Amino acid sequence: MFFPPCDWLPKAPLEHLHLDWLKTAGIEVAILRLDLIDPLISGNKWFKLIEHLKAADRCGAEGIISLGGAHSNHLHALAAAGKRFGFSTVGLLRGHPQETPTVKDLQAFGMRLHWLGYGGYRARHQAGFWEPWQAQYPGLFAVPEGGGGWQGAKGCMQLMTMVREQLNSLEWSDYDGWWLACGTGTTLAGLVLAEAGEHRVYGALAVPDDHGVAERVENIVEEAGVTAPDYQLFDASRGGFAKVDRLLLEFIEQTEQVTGVPLEPLYTAKALLALREQVEAGTFARGTRLVFIHTGGLQGRRGFCPQT
Ligand SMILES: *Cc1c(COP(=O)(O)O)cnc(C)c1O
Repeated sequence: MFFPPCDWLPKAPLEHLHLDWLKTAGIEVAILRLDLIDPLISGNKWFKLIEHLKAADRCGAEGIISLGGAHSNHLHALAAAGKRFGFSTVGLLRGHPQETPTVKDLQAFGMRLHWLGYGGYRARHQAGFWEPWQAQYPGLFAVPEGGGGWQGAKGCMQLMTMVREQLNSLEWSDYDGWWLACGTGTTLAGLVLAEAGEHRVYGALAVPDDHGVAERVENIVEEAGVTAPDYQLFDASRGGFAKVDRLLLEFIEQTEQVTGVPLEPLYTAKALLALREQVEAGTFARGTRLVFIHTGGLQGRRGFCPQT
């Protein structure tokens, strides 16, 4: 038994976000601080792991094997959870051995690492990929990259409840929609399922829009049997995943100064900047109330921002 739902139910604060460009447009935004659920197990990656961990637990597995890159927020959350709750973890990494702050943490958390190179990592979707790993680690349960798929989305459905329970403290009776960064679209799919058409979910794509996000969301939503998914995707990638430009870095600095909310450049800052673009373009009527999800990922910015 390693799934800890009884003793660990993290809750993220929901706070008003005060920014001039929102005020000017008459738009209200509340930010759900998934970056604050835990000092180590941060962000949406925990919620994407929950159902996978439950499934592993039901199978009597001793731990988890999964994949990611050298800055992976997913592997970081998984390794930290393994250390905290006492299950073993193995990480299959993209590329060749390198010492990023994330990799050092993974090792410190006790995750066993295997570097697959680039070609080896690309083979992860092929039939038979897991066989040798399952032979080497028969007691471990395999979780797909990023904790994705329907199981990952299911774990994110509870974010809706978490927000609805806190609306009173904002003095909001309701909200009009969600705004969040998308990589695979799994977190967005979870919200789309939870809302079942009640409120629209807006996704800011951190990857160029040819990465099949819409298709993945459709697949998850279909698997769950929801017929009228209400969501909309916007390009927020600024030319590519992990591409960072001057305007983005300035935006991070200004926003942090005004709000005190730390952002990282790959997801959360790009999502908020894309929101500003849409707000300034008049996409939302005055009086619109949005919930912005801070999906975490701050551990990963150590590799990108020199100041941290
Ligand atoms: C992984 C990640 C996302 C993207 O989540 P998906 O469910 O893959 O769309 C967004 N923000 C942060 C900080 C992440 O680490």
